[in-house]
Amino acid sequence: MTLENVLNCVGGTPCLNLALSSGHVFAKAEFMNPSGSIKDRVAARIIELAIQNGSLRPGMRIAEASSGNMGISLAMAGAAYGYRVTIYMCESASIERRNILRLLGAELVLTPPEQSVGGALEALMADAESDPDVFLVNQFGNKENIAAHYNGTGKELWEDMDGDIDCFISGIGSGGTMMGVGTYLREKNPEVRLIAVEPQGAAALLGHKPKQHGIEGIGDGFLPEIVDPDFIDSIIEVTDSQAVENALALARRKGLFVGMSSGANLAAAALVLKDYPEWKIATTLPDRAERYFSTQLFLNKAV
Ligand code: PMP
Repeated sequence: MTLENVLNCVGGTPCLNLALSSGHVFAKAEFMNPSGSIKDRVAARIIELAIQNGSLRPGMRIAEASSGNMGISLAMAGAAYGYRVTIYMCESASIERRNILRLLGAELVLTPPEQSVGGALEALMADAESDPDVFLVNQFGNKENIAAHYNGTGKELWEDMDGDIDCFISGIGSGGTMMGVGTYLREKNPEVRLIAVEPQGAAALLGHKPKQHGIEGIGDGFLPEIVDPDFIDSIIEVTDSQAVENALALARRKGLFVGMSSGANLAAAALVLKDYPEWKIATTLPDRAERYFSTQLFLNKAV
């Protein structure tokens, strides 16, 4: 088989049985997407649809606010289809993410870290208002973000696990994964429990204020427009340290080289299994460990 475009490699990720001693946890290996994260699914869907329906035309520029991975996925898609890409990102995003964006030829605009992703979003909106040739992606308000996970991640998980799913656990960044996968699973089985993971003390779903934390990719400091809090059954808060420890445990015990939000999902799964040891839990491993080598948190624990 030969493929025309890097975006043809997106999705269809393996579902790994993590066979933890505490119980059954199955995880989609989203780090196997071509740019290394779950956001490839969303970027591929939004850009390909926009090209097809004519809202993204030659000469236009793709723009987005991102905590990193969505920016990288869009930079990949823009490069593959010949579009310029501008990404608004907090200065606190890891140096690896910034360098990958530059490598893919994207323009990078850094915003103050204390404003979290909200600050990047404001700068993006100002850019889109002043330039008619901007194609505004807006993952936080774009329903295609949900559709990418409904048609992709959710459907795949249901098939991978033959519908034997008690609970889906996901960190909330844009909330696309939770809303898309959750909608698909609930349509198939209304009893499926949906559990959101947020950084300790920074849970927007619990009304907390934005706070700097170390679990990049989730807990962006506000409740995204596409998230319906009533749809989610419960929220588990995870500390930076729990996220890193669980990510390291996956590396050392399973050979899985994943980032902190994967660790956060696993930390939450372990807590759920304490109360419901018989549950079959589905989750995702959103990205890879290499993206965080420069972060102190990772270095301090790993070496
Ligand atoms: N983990 C990582 C590493 C991410 O980059 C993201 C996306 N920001 C998520 C989890 C959460 O995904 P979603 O945006 O679908 O909520």
